[in-house]
Amino acid sequence: MTETYDDIRAAVRGLCATFPPAYWRDLDAARAYPEAFVKALTEAGFLAALIPERWGGSGLGIAAAAAILEEIQKSGANGAACHAQMYIMGTLLRHGSEAQKDQYLPAIARGDVRLQAFGVTEPTSGTDTSRIRTTAVRDGGGYRISGQKVWTSRAQHSDLMLLLARTTPREQVAKPHEGLSTFLIDLRTAKPPALVIRPIRTMMNHATTEVWFEDLHVPADARIGEEGRGFRYILDGMNAERILIAAECVGDARWFIAKATAYARERVVFGRPIGQNQGIQFPIARAFAATEAAALMVAKAAQRFDRGEPCGAEANMAKLLAADASWQAADMCVQTHGGFGFAEEYDVERKFRETRLYQVAPISTNLILTYLAEHVLGLPRSY
Ligand SMILES: Cc1cc2nc3c(=O)[nH]c(=O)nc-3n(C[C@H](O)[C@H](O)[C@H](O)COP(=O)(O)OP(=O)(O)OC[C@H]3O[C@@H](n4cnc5c(N)ncnc54)[C@H](O)[C@@H]3O)c2cc1C
Repeated sequence: MTETYDDIRAAVRGLCATFPPAYWRDLDAARAYPEAFVKALTEAGFLAALIPERWGGSGLGIAAAAAILEEIQKSGANGAACHAQMYIMGTLLRHGSEAQKDQYLPAIARGDVRLQAFGVTEPTSGTDTSRIRTTAVRDGGGYRISGQKVWTSRAQHSDLMLLLARTTPREQVAKPHEGLSTFLIDLRTAKPPALVIRPIRTMMNHATTEVWFEDLHVPADARIGEEGRGFRYILDGMNAERILIAAECVGDARWFIAKATAYARERVVFGRPIGQNQGIQFPIARAFAATEAAALMVAKAAQRFDRGEPCGAEANMAKLLAADASWQAADMCVQTHGGFGFAEEYDVERKFRETRLYQVAPISTNLILTYLAEHVLGLPRSY
């Protein structure tokens, strides 16, 4: 059995309770960033959960971080505004030099510096990361970066960005994913036209952006790890990201189930609560069962991760099952509420829009299925 982190969960619940639904509703309408919420989470130390104590963090494992994010979502809040601050630093922690870690990790842990922007996806390459076109070309003591990223979330609310760029042309490397490198870009000093960030308005409030680089000069020590091994470093962080997003989906699902259950008890139609009808009960019960099953897989993946055991299959299954459970619960919750499921003041439609993302990002459902088919079941590679 895994630890349940009841104290941490209670503390997160307490903090989230000070940000009532109207706070999220107003931000959603204005497509504004939850600055006060993120500040409160940072000051309480929750976003530094995974930073080792040596650099000022809590030194907790992924299971504890998952509990934090699950509670945030379960409360009705949206942790997507800052969840990446927890895990992007993992690339720095695992592959950065001691000097880089000493420079950045304590400042991130204190909340003085935000590292929560992650520039991988590009408009033309899609999921095929080996075809990214952003380049980092050696120039004197550093590099010049040119190219375009898309869906770089929170870039306008981050001091640093972890960027993946090609340092050796695809044609000159033995395998397509070689020749990519990771850089830590200081967004505070980079200015237009070398760096231009433009927000993308999306169906939910997500602070996501497009980013253009035009001959942006960065020093050599902006590179993390060895040149050419960046894709490997990004892959190393993906299990953590999948487990944490899966935990958020479990939290969302639990919010939808609680909301639907409460409404089904109180809404009276034809002289009785709608929850007395099995046509209303069964979808709620199904969503509940799917959520509990997904939560078990999240716990298993987290446990393996924290023990240092291989967990690619479990992390992917956790993300798949949890994203499906949250989407199933979201659909059920709208249906249970009838017309009120569409009214902003019930918050159901907002959470419905927010949780839909996890069928697509950070990895789409199809790509998880292809991973399981190929790497776990040994089926031929389909792409
Ligand atoms: C709101 C939002 C925030 C995001 N934040 C970030 C971020 O911070 N940083 C970042 O780098 N990226 C971010 N992303 C990008 C996200 O990771 C990608 O959207 C996602 O990986 C899918 O890539 P794509 O959009 O290019 O889809 P495409 O690769 O164009 O795929 C389109 C569809 O085709 C399917 N498909 C593609 N190839 C195959 C195949 N071989 N077999 C079966 N199906 C296939 C996909 O599953 C998908 O459903 C974000 C996206 C969104 C929408």
